Amino acid sequence: MLFDTHCHLDAKQFKNNINEIVNNAKKNNVSKILIPAIKPGLPNIKIKNVFLATGSHPYHSNETIKNKQKIIDGLEDAVAIGETGLDFFKCPIEKKIQIESLEFQCELAVKTSMPIILHERNSFSELIEIIRKYPDITGVFHAFHHSEKELKTIIDLNFYVGLGGMVTYKKNNILREAVKKAPLERFVLETDSPYLAPQTKRGQVNQPANLLDIAKRISLIKNKTLNEISLLTTENANRLFKL
Ligand SMILES: [Zn+2]
Repeated sequence: MLFDTHCHLDAKQFKNNINEIVNNAKKNNVSKILIPAIKPGLPNIKIKNVFLATGSHPYHSNETIKNKQKIIDGLEDAVAIGETGLDFFKCPIEKKIQIESLEFQCELAVKTSMPIILHERNSFSELIEIIRKYPDITGVFHAFHHSEKELKTIIDLNFYVGLGGMVTYKKNNILREAVKKAPLERFVLETDSPYLAPQTKRGQVNQPANLLDIAKRISLIKNKTLNEISLLTTENANRLFKL
């Protein structure tokens, strides 16, 4: 059994076929899905074994700092906070505002003892610096795409590493090298659907069923059976999200 810990099932790409997408996931052994929030609050989806996070994405930091209550209101039905973080790649939102939104969500995670889901682009050291201010926080660095050094930093901070389509991309040998050396106890799997389709499905709308491709690739990298990878990463996710 696999757990897709980062899947935007509420995206417009799935608006007309969400049941088919969830059934297809099940057929491919993906029986649990977690939807992180993009806009402030809770994703508006109710399906069995589909879990939710309350929070907001760095791209929506402006709305977040005006609508903090929406995120607080979502806590009751959430298993995590986020996805929050920092995006210094193409995100037009001022750094200061992104940091304010992130820090609000970090405080909430500490206060509620809930895990936080972090998004990071061109902002690794800045994000680490903020996370270090919250010694009791835990969560996941989603869509991990760096080397062994950054992976060790994340693990030392008591965080989990979210692995997705990027481990399958041809050019990402440094990432695969990092995955090879790191302890499996800290990995969770994700598709980030509808984005980041794995190499075999590139150019297509990604979907949670494709988690199987990612798990297979990791089983080759780690020299473990697919069953071992499935069990361990699902166990990790259940532990992290207290399920
Ligand atoms: Zn995401």
